[in-house]
Amino acid sequence: MNTNAVLYNDLDRILVTREEIAKAVRELGEKLTEKFRGESPVFVCILKGASVFFTDLIREIDAPLTTDFMVVSSYGSSTKSTGVVKIVKDLDKPVVGKHVVLVEDIVDSGMTLSYLKRVFANREAASVSIVTLLDKPARRRVDLTVDYSCFNIPDAFVVGYGLDYDEKYRNLPDIGVLHPKIYAAEE
Ligand code: 5GP
Repeated sequence: MNTNAVLYNDLDRILVTREEIAKAVRELGEKLTEKFRGESPVFVCILKGASVFFTDLIREIDAPLTTDFMVVSSYGSSTKSTGVVKIVKDLDKPVVGKHVVLVEDIVDSGMTLSYLKRVFANREAASVSIVTLLDKPARRRVDLTVDYSCFNIPDAFVVGYGLDYDEKYRNLPDIGVLHPKIYAAEE
């Protein structure tokens, strides 16, 4: 890996490598294949952060799943969310009676997913499961059950593999801690 590349210069350190991610995604795909044997779940990608994880994950699942996409925004600065969630783009199809799997990039306070879980319960989904690539348990502000998480990480602002800062770094293949100098001016 060329760690002198342009994007890597803005990182404090690499937290999860592309090899570790690929292994975790494969293992999660096997678990979800097992869980949904005989079912046709709807996998919902929470855009934009989960996009890279989502496209890798669904290809590791051997089940007749369907996909749908949702854009949510949480108000706040670029590095801290406030917990006020707005659905910017909703699903294309109703989920009544469906097994819904919400695929998220990272669970931080838990506010976004706890809100979405309520939304899908109200829409009479048969079940709502939560899958996340990353989890920051130390930051949790609500009681939320995360059904599947690939990595628990410390309380630091991370980018890469779909996660952004100011829309950048989504194309970084590894996950790294953004150097605080990059967002210091905003704090
Ligand atoms: P929550 O509602 O759990 O506090 O926030 C979840 C959302 O906050 C994530 O989907 C993501 O958009 C954003 N977020 C939380 N922590 C990080 C982080 O370390 N890096 C990035 N890029 N986004 C984060």
